[in-house]
Amino acid sequence: MVSQNLNSEAMHYGLDIGGTKIELAIFDSQLKRVESWRRPTPQKDYQALLSAIAQMVNEADEKSDTKGTVGIGFPGYLDSLGRSVSANIGSVNGQFIVRDTCAKLGRAVSFENDVKAFALSEVRGGAAQSKNNALGVVIGTGVAGGLCVQGQLYKSKQNVSCEFGHVSLPAVLQQRYQFPLRQCGCGLIGCVEAYLAGPGLLWMCSHFDTKYTSVPMLVEAFRNNEAKAIEVMDVYIDCLGCYFAQLTLMYDPDIIVLGGGVSNIAEIYARLPNVMQKYFFNGVIAPSVVAAKYGDSSGVRGAAILGRDNANSAVVQN
Ligand SMILES: [Zn+2]
Repeated sequence: MVSQNLNSEAMHYGLDIGGTKIELAIFDSQLKRVESWRRPTPQKDYQALLSAIAQMVNEADEKSDTKGTVGIGFPGYLDSLGRSVSANIGSVNGQFIVRDTCAKLGRAVSFENDVKAFALSEVRGGAAQSKNNALGVVIGTGVAGGLCVQGQLYKSKQNVSCEFGHVSLPAVLQQRYQFPLRQCGCGLIGCVEAYLAGPGLLWMCSHFDTKYTSVPMLVEAFRNNEAKAIEVMDVYIDCLGCYFAQLTLMYDPDIIVLGGGVSNIAEIYARLPNVMQKYFFNGVIAPSVVAAKYGDSSGVRGAAILGRDNANSAVVQN
């Protein structure tokens, strides 16, 4: 509820544009979440999407009685020319979405991949607070990540750093578990995402000839000590540990923060360090792997932080 006069306080809006819903959350200057709401994402019509964003931001201005900063997370990236690319929201493909949104809203707007926004949120007051280098990994319907170095998101030439859901699953795992090379939604074959994302875990249930038809059903059976569920989860945690060990050899983070649906399977955290250790050469120590502090809220929170940072740096430059 917004009851106080917020005129004197800077407010920060984080938006998370998903394939089905847009969420806007208003944060105060201390990054306390004040209010949030959602509306359906216009998926096919770009102008309708811009209008939906503008309408939500205008509502936020009215509710908070100020003109807040705006940061937006979305499931995609901006290519080297600044055009948006997203597999989930077809209408944004090839559009100069930052320019168009800034013009529509009459203020600076920051755009970032939603998982990178998640990683930033967790390093700024979240589970990776005070860590120099933190790797955020979200495993839900897909697998993606974001790297924060000294509290800032690592930026790269084509904005595809940490798209490590689309590297190949290690051959050692393919061979050990007799996995077929699966087609990935990205067009490549054998991607990590095709095995380790939620749908991949469900696929493992059929690969190992179980009766489980959903991930919650598998997890419940695992907690009830059903042998088949334990077998699948043992394989899954082995694959996850191997993958996180590889990410550690690439990024050497102080901590790995896990988000997405898989992060809610509490049993994996205690086992991962030992599993990861099997995949290191001598002398390498597994970083801790922890659950996100802000969970599903980290996307909008990280987006709001980006919007705030961007506004602050603009003031400095001026
Ligand atoms: Zn892929």
